[in-house]
Amino acid sequence: MKIVIASGKGGVGKSMLVSALAMLFNKKKKIVAVDCDADAPNLNIWLNEIGEWEKIIKVITSARPEIDYKKCNGCGLCVKNCRFEALEMVNNKPKLNRFLCEGCGACEIICPQKAIILKPVQNGEIRIKKTKYGFPLVSGQLYPGESGSGKVVTEIKKEAEKLNHEVMVLDSAPGTGCPVIASLQGADFVVLISEPTPSGFSDLKRVLMVVEHFKIPWGLVINKWDINLPLSNKMEKWAKSKLLGKISYDQEIFRAVSNLTPILETRLKAKKEIKKIFDNLNKLYG
Ligand code: SF4
Ligand code: SF4
Repeated sequence: MKIVIASGKGGVGKSMLVSALAMLFNKKKKIVAVDCDADAPNLNIWLNEIGEWEKIIKVITSARPEIDYKKCNGCGLCVKNCRFEALEMVNNKPKLNRFLCEGCGACEIICPQKAIILKPVQNGEIRIKKTKYGFPLVSGQLYPGESGSGKVVTEIKKEAEKLNHEVMVLDSAPGTGCPVIASLQGADFVVLISEPTPSGFSDLKRVLMVVEHFKIPWGLVINKWDINLPLSNKMEKWAKSKLLGKISYDQEIFRAVSNLTPILETRLKAKKEIKKIFDNLNKLYG
């Protein structure tokens, strides 16, 4: 069973919720926690697991063009056809800006002189460790300036799949892009988390379009519900029976994470609220 926690917007409490749900599921089932936010992984921080990783696996899921200048006749076709403007003509020869290149391969196909060949590049790594709670944590990191976070997420999930588990709890990247789609692939349920702000609600609706495209059942958690009561009520009415619960705004949550204290190890109100969300999730999904 795969449960993905996703949010259209970053900074709405997703990793906090994932860390707490993973610890709660761990009391009943064999679990694996997976951090799919390869651009900015932080689930280990919410679980107070900032020490060394037990295993690091290098990932090669991207490619970059290599230009053979002896074959190139300077026609400029590759530059014209690069949608990412990663190539420019300098002294009648194409020059690559590696930070703009998405490794799409269009330049290789278009080159009439066969002067361009795409070469694989190591663009990230997968990190694995057993947490102090007994369950494994699989995380990953896309290297700075590299592309292909969606493919890195797919590799992270493949490694997590190899570990013995009954429930996989996945922390998706924010937004609606490739890493989110890769996180949602094969999911049995999605917990969407948002906050009652205009941008939070609007981004929630956007990510829901992706979730519904894949026909995945979902539920909603409203974090910091009490910072904007009219909008919070509106979101509650909008979600109807899909509402799994609400978490109150509490500055102490930030203090807890600064001190590397997982929410379930605090006495904060959020702890009780998340336990209620966990119970509702179990009722809804068995
Ligand atoms: S398309 Fe090929 S031949 Fe033309 S400029 Fe690019 S590398 Fe050179
Ligand atoms: S691989 Fe794609 S993005 Fe990179 S330089 Fe070639 S056409 Fe541009």
